[in-house]
Amino acid sequence: MTAPTTTSNWADRYTGALMNTFGPPRLVLTRGQGAQVWDDAGTRYLDLLGGIAVNALGHAHPAVVAAVTRQLDTLGHVSNFFATRPQIELAERLLAMDGRPGRVFFTNSGTEANEAALKLTRRTGRTHLVAAEGAFHGRTMGALAVTAKEAYRLPFEPLPGEVTFVPYGDAEALAAAVTDRTAAVVVEPVQGEAGVVVPPRDYLAAARQITADHGALLWLDEVQTGIGRTGAWLAHRNPELVDAELPVRPDVVTLAKGLGGGIPIGACVAFGDAATLLQPGNHGTTFGGNPVACAAALAVLDTIVAEGLLDHAAALGARLATGLAADARVSEVRAAGLLIGLDLTEPVSAEVVAAAQRHGFIVNNPTPDRIRMAPPLILTAGEADSFLAAWPQILDEALGEQP
Ligand code: PLP
Repeated sequence: MTAPTTTSNWADRYTGALMNTFGPPRLVLTRGQGAQVWDDAGTRYLDLLGGIAVNALGHAHPAVVAAVTRQLDTLGHVSNFFATRPQIELAERLLAMDGRPGRVFFTNSGTEANEAALKLTRRTGRTHLVAAEGAFHGRTMGALAVTAKEAYRLPFEPLPGEVTFVPYGDAEALAAAVTDRTAAVVVEPVQGEAGVVVPPRDYLAAARQITADHGALLWLDEVQTGIGRTGAWLAHRNPELVDAELPVRPDVVTLAKGLGGGIPIGACVAFGDAATLLQPGNHGTTFGGNPVACAAALAVLDTIVAEGLLDHAAALGARLATGLAADARVSEVRAAGLLIGLDLTEPVSAEVVAAAQRHGFIVNNPTPDRIRMAPPLILTAGEADSFLAAWPQILDEALGEQP
């Protein structure tokens, strides 16, 4: 069984007016507050997906609302012939997360951040790329070229570039694939769309060494894992995920999703020599760096600090993971802060999504036997516990619905 879909007139209108790229909507949502959302029948849900790791501060957070309102009231948009203060401040804040000198290119989405990174790699004079099996980097043609899933790729081939895919987390396979012709290795510190797959703790350091040995760039896609999601600003700097004795210094980091707390923004952040590869005329965007989006992102960063959300995400993720794993029908839980994936002993993830929704919880199933959660970082312990209390019943119902 698939997740129940909404029956309202709005759903019919959706079907009549929108391209069928996502299938029928599960619900028509009308408002949100904190980690909760309401549908058009007035039913309340705990949003444990957070717009797929986007709503870092939940819904209608006063800091984001105030920042956006203030900025829109002051200066809503300018062309990139001009600079704005929020854009400059945000670029500086993102660079400060790393500490090395660098440069930022702002975009409106994750795929565009990766598109910018891909163009940047072309300016090395090399074209070969190495990406990982299971990787997801977006749907534009360049980002799709380094995305592994054949169902996404095949309808659009030929895709640009020469890309070698290697098993994720396997440093030896990576070493065998990278040559002196390789422009870059692109890798997610934790694979989100694959169902939250965490590589060995020394994998990124190995990737750094291998790329450095061949003069290739290391490009980390932190679109899903960045901005506090895993309990650290950036997953590749999270000592829970990466060996602290093997610090990883990438050439390029791409960001989006949680950065704007629901306002569309992405960023391609480059360091060292990589920061100056894109020169005037090489790339551009009308909306990227829009002051309203940048003001929202600054509010997100400030609020993560003010509310101690990095530690909170780490602690609450661990609490959820322990609670979810307590049920014998869960074979594995992989938690990187509040990015949580779990495997079920039976391929009933669609039934789990449906049962959870009936119980008032929104989760997602990236594969038939995997569930993923990426709730707002402001989720409370009480809210997390309400899901844990319902979890055995949700699994009972899901397994009872098996054909
Ligand atoms: N990169 C990663 C790791 C992602 O998880 C996603 C989206 O899920 C993207 C890139 C694409 O981002 P967007 O959907 O904003 O284009």
